[in-house]
Amino acid sequence: MTKRAGDEVVNLLKDYTPPPEKKPKRIPPVSKSRAEKAELRELVRWVVLTRPGPRCEIGQAFPEIPCGSIVTPERKHAIEVDEIRGGAYRSTEMYDPERCRRGCHRHHDHKTANKREYLRRIGEL
Ligand SMILES: [Zn+2]
Repeated sequence: MTKRAGDEVVNLLKDYTPPPEKKPKRIPPVSKSRAEKAELRELVRWVVLTRPGPRCEIGQAFPEIPCGSIVTPERKHAIEVDEIRGGAYRSTEMYDPERCRRGCHRHHDHKTANKREYLRRIGEL
């Protein structure tokens, strides 16, 4: 029998056993420390959503934008909780009611898109 190209590879493959399949380690969607503080965050949200004052606090800074906080049966959860600076500050602000504002989706979106203007208007810049 003559040796053909590829025979060596075929011989090597006879002894080959694939490594055991490893499940890739998944990164949890919520960090352990954040999961541990979930109850505190819920408490902060409750404080922010129930404190006295205008229903849409964010909207106070943008009176030229019509507020979307009008309650209808379809929009029971129309009010959202936002952190004033957010971003890198979010991890600390989200546990401090004084650093959170409630607002309608429209004003929240507008604030996010115009954060510097918002911070300037509320005296944070
Ligand atoms: Zn609003």
